[in-house]
Amino acid sequence: MNSPIWMPPSQGLFSIRSAWEQIRDTSQPLPWASTVRFKGRYPRHSITVWKAMLNRLSTKDRICRINSAIDAKCCLCNAVPESVDHLFFKCGFTSWIWKAILWRALIEHEM
Ligand SMILES: [Zn+2]
Repeated sequence: MNSPIWMPPSQGLFSIRSAWEQIRDTSQPLPWASTVRFKGRYPRHSITVWKAMLNRLSTKDRICRINSAIDAKCCLCNAVPESVDHLFFKCGFTSWIWKAILWRALIEHEM
């Protein structure tokens, strides 16, 4: 079993960055990473998209794995279990919001 070992940087001071550089896996970059991380991005948006891509957002389907007493239905349409896929691509309510945004931005897109 491999255990991460923190090696102090040349200055000898601990930093979050130096610890992260020691434990992160750099062997295979994610093919969509440049879509999420780019110059001029809003960090909060990037983190949200990153979490969505890895299915790590705190959606009700994930929360129910920890606490099954929670109602898993979508808080917007209350029809089906809330998941990343449902919230971003299948929910009728969010679909209506996306259509309104596209309409206001004068973008024609079939959903
Ligand atoms: Zn919904």
